[in-house]
Amino acid sequence: MTTDLIPAAMRIDRRPRDPQWTDLGGPDEPGEEYLIVVDDTAIGGTYWCGADYIADGQRWASWGPAGLSMRHPTREDAEQAQVRAYAADPGVVDRQIAAERRENAAAAARQDAADAEQAKARLVERVGADSPGPTVWALPSHHYLTGDQDDVAAVTAWLHAHGLYRVSGRHEVRVEQRTSRRVIVVEELHGWSDDATQTRVVTCTVDPPVVDAPPRPDLVELLDTHYPTTFPLIDFGQNVACVACTRHTSPQAVTVWPCPVFVAAAGRGASFPQVAGT
Ligand SMILES: [Zn+2]
Repeated sequence: MTTDLIPAAMRIDRRPRDPQWTDLGGPDEPGEEYLIVVDDTAIGGTYWCGADYIADGQRWASWGPAGLSMRHPTREDAEQAQVRAYAADPGVVDRQIAAERRENAAAAARQDAADAEQAKARLVERVGADSPGPTVWALPSHHYLTGDQDDVAAVTAWLHAHGLYRVSGRHEVRVEQRTSRRVIVVEELHGWSDDATQTRVVTCTVDPPVVDAPPRPDLVELLDTHYPTTFPLIDFGQNVACVACTRHTSPQAVTVWPCPVFVAAAGRGASFPQVAGT
């Protein structure tokens, strides 16, 4: 490119916008978009205008420190318009880059704020905006395995009445008295894993059932090893087996849940609940 009015110390290069591109075109021959690079900084670019309203002989345009500059006969002319503007005021590109960075940073901050707002809305939907209050009713963890069968059914029906279908049985269930409402606080299964839970709070509209369920930490501890499993399917899914008691026996000799070890510890004998639903 010609260098009139351009300081000799400036190193001016041309680089395709896509590294694969090689087609420079000509005065009346389309070419690909190239960047104008001065001292290793892209200050703008040149491109071919194929539109009907552009006359032949004026098909090259550029963008950069001179703004949009159109109707040049050659790519070189279009480049010069930008390089001249840059030579007159090299700071213009720095200011443009700084302005772009500021705009990007502001956009990122707006997005972060929107994300945080959304996360907060989801949290409020899940646990409510009001403060926790005193616990007025509590069901110990593992009640579905350690509790009386009728009690388990009553608790299940009560949870279902509140739209709670995926409550973890390995956590406590509580009713809290908050300032303007009673709420049920549960750990709800989250995703596909049985282990992942998240706290969920719903307004309690139906009184919780009266449940005689003293906490049994001894049974909870026993359930670490002696617990019911449906896998592999036993008796076509009619029964579940105790994992611990069945581990060392053959598939023909599974120990059906509740196993003797657990029944003895629970002290409930035949009245003990069979398979727990939820
Ligand atoms: Zn067992």
